[in-house]
Amino acid sequence: MSEVTDPVVIVGAGHGGTTLAALLRQGGFTAPVVVVGEETHLPYHRPPLSKKFSGPEAEQALRPEDFYAANAIDLRRGISVTAIDRSAMRVSLSDGSHLPYRALVLATGSTPRPLPVPGASGVLTLRTLDDARALGASLGRGGHLAIVGGGYVGMEVAAVARSHGIGVTIVERERRILARVASAELSRRLSGYHIDRGTEVLVSSDVAGIRMRDGRACGVELADGRVLDCDTVLVGIGAAPNDALARDCGLACGQGVLVDGRGRTSDHNVYAIGDVAIRPVDGGFVRLESIPNATEQARQVAAALLGAPAPEPEVPWFWSDQFDLKLKIAGLLSPADRIVVREGSKPGSFALFHLSAEGSVRAVETANAGAEFMASKKFIAQGTPVRADVLGDPSVSLREALSPVRV
Ligand code: FAD
Repeated sequence: MSEVTDPVVIVGAGHGGTTLAALLRQGGFTAPVVVVGEETHLPYHRPPLSKKFSGPEAEQALRPEDFYAANAIDLRRGISVTAIDRSAMRVSLSDGSHLPYRALVLATGSTPRPLPVPGASGVLTLRTLDDARALGASLGRGGHLAIVGGGYVGMEVAAVARSHGIGVTIVERERRILARVASAELSRRLSGYHIDRGTEVLVSSDVAGIRMRDGRACGVELADGRVLDCDTVLVGIGAAPNDALARDCGLACGQGVLVDGRGRTSDHNVYAIGDVAIRPVDGGFVRLESIPNATEQARQVAAALLGAPAPEPEVPWFWSDQFDLKLKIAGLLSPADRIVVREGSKPGSFALFHLSAEGSVRAVETANAGAEFMASKKFIAQGTPVRADVLGDPSVSLREALSPVRV
């Protein structure tokens, strides 16, 4: 069993894990905190990796190097946790040592899904700083970029590459880009925005294989027999949760590690946060891959470990930057919802409100529309019916949306 001197052990030195460590110290937590991270780099921001073209703008540390020692956070880089012994309350590390824990937090993130076709060993994926450096080096050699998968990461890289004059083709298996994560209306608008800026977007196109030359990808074979010549292939077809440690030690898992509203797994002493966790939101269970989600769950676990009340639930949201579009999306999309469009006055500015059958805002997708986004988050949190005529009329203030219909 654990001793009072045993540390809180956080597995994964990404956004969730390091945020939790910092929050514990901010909250006055005095017991030892160890963060074990398999990457060798100082913990860094992932979002810039797909939004900047390598270099210092893309490589941003989450905190200065001296932050960890100054806050008595034992950050162990380049070491991974290889097994969890829940009855002994200790973990095994890749250097052969063991670490006891008073509480264990899994913040292991997710891993890009591999492309299951011949030749896929020559493609690149984008999750880590090393991946971003490899992508930057390959694009720096010039030539055409083929991106398999029209998800947010792929679309962001496409925008950066086009902004640097690189030819880009996006190959998407579904009938539209962002099919899993955005409404058809947002997909249509973004697709047009990319095509207008010179990106080729191929939808309903399955990849049958990757052609290789000298160990590098040089072509994408499509299922219909066409071959796209290219010099770099980036695959962005989603990410799978890094939940093997949790499964191996018998924690309850679905498509990720199941947790409650405080980040606690089926073991009272083990928590999971960020991309690896499936958590309750709005009466269902979802696995969210976003910075705000990892931050919110870090807050939940920090409160639990500090013995503080659970924080108020937040409306899930995330952002994406593509060309000059600042996209912000909040709430959970449901295909049954009605969409009300509010066009903005600035170029490329709009808000797509998703209304439930009862007339409340369930989700919103915005571009260059910060005020509409903030107002919508409040509408979603309130869950009360709003006036669709006001939402759709940019000449009327959104404040009016909660007022009764005048007769
Ligand atoms: P991570 O930040 O991935 O950290 C997990 C860490 O755990 C990794 O360093 C991993 O190496 C380590 N690890 C795994 N297993 C072990 C082990 N056994 N032992 C030790 N260490 C281990 N979100 C947004 O909201 N907006 C964006 O614009 C946005 N852009 C993104 C762009 C890119 C290119 C990527 C990849 C992601 C982006 N995201 C964005 C998503 C966001 O970065 C993630 O949701 C967030 O980083 C999740 O935090 P996390 O702590 O769960 O996982």
